[in-house]
Amino acid sequence: MQHIAPRVKFRRNSKLLEVDEIFYMQAIIYHANKDIRLEDIAEPTPGPGEAKIRITGTSICATDVEEWQYGPLWVQHGSPNALTGKQTPLVLGHETAGTVHEIGEGVGNVSVGDRVAINTVLTCGSCFWCTRGQQSVCPSMAVAGFMADGGLAEFMVWPADKLVPMPYSISDAEGPLLEPTSVAVHAVRRSGVRPGDNVAIVGCGTVGLLTLQAFKAAGARVIAIDVREQSLTLAKEFGADEVLNSCNEEITATQVLELTGGVGPDIVVETAGVKETPRMAIEWTRRGGTTLLLGIYSTTPEINFNDVVGPEITIIGSVATSPGDLEAAVELVGSGKINVKPLISRIVPLSRAIEDGFKRMLDPNKDIYRIVIQPGS
Ligand SMILES: [Zn+2]
Ligand SMILES: [Zn+2]
Repeated sequence: MQHIAPRVKFRRNSKLLEVDEIFYMQAIIYHANKDIRLEDIAEPTPGPGEAKIRITGTSICATDVEEWQYGPLWVQHGSPNALTGKQTPLVLGHETAGTVHEIGEGVGNVSVGDRVAINTVLTCGSCFWCTRGQQSVCPSMAVAGFMADGGLAEFMVWPADKLVPMPYSISDAEGPLLEPTSVAVHAVRRSGVRPGDNVAIVGCGTVGLLTLQAFKAAGARVIAIDVREQSLTLAKEFGADEVLNSCNEEITATQVLELTGGVGPDIVVETAGVKETPRMAIEWTRRGGTTLLLGIYSTTPEINFNDVVGPEITIIGSVATSPGDLEAAVELVGSGKINVKPLISRIVPLSRAIEDGFKRMLDPNKDIYRIVIQPGS
């Protein structure tokens, strides 16, 4: 049941006899497994170095739905996060963008009214990995929507140095897609791709289709592979040089070889995250090539490691982002080199996020890439 609270409450400070206003906002709160709620909570206030952002869009990611159905897996629960001091109940949402509404003490890099993309990854800055530039594997990493209050709300407070100015060529609805784009950019950077390389992408969901475009922007020739015709049509629209329906694995394996002069792709990217696909990705990679694993696996894939040792395959894992990846995503989307618009399947107001967003994402026959939640829409 929705908890009904007045939008504005007044509390009288007895000592100073000053009126202290508490504003309330709507938010989607993660309480526990299968328990997410639309609630009215107090608006957050920015501390020193922080900005309060009026959220203009937050997209629902498959990870959010997995946390709701099977979690808490990543969501901080049971003890507070070392970096943020937060734990459940938490506001969900890690793919988010907005407009700066208020700034805390000492903030100089953004001003009220600036449109911003939000780098939702916080790292400690002082550990072994952070000091060596490998922030994406900081053991203390804290992500908005998992270890801190995220963007499925009217407002969010976040360190101002994690905000990246967003040009007007990126619309409010497109803003949240910058986060999965930064994940794609990170993967492409980790792959070590060179112009002219043959790249095959196994799995053309949102991240797969963004990775495809990021590889095209890096000068690669891309073969997109999926079992869903709709995804392959989009892949073509996004510039894939070849598309293959992989419903028959043997036929696909032959086609991949044929399309690469009998050699195999230099890089095969696995984004589907299902049991069979990492094995396929490794088998399809050319001798001496690279397999890039980008999926999150809910079942344990079976791999014959002789298929890695014999052909000297390099396997690279990629998760989250490093400094500079979101800035690159803003540049690529803002300049039109990456198109996120067709990946916005629908726009839903915050008040309907559970009914028309999360529940819709559960449908196994869904033809949905991203649902964007907009407060006040
Ligand atoms: Zn996501
Ligand atoms: Zn660290």
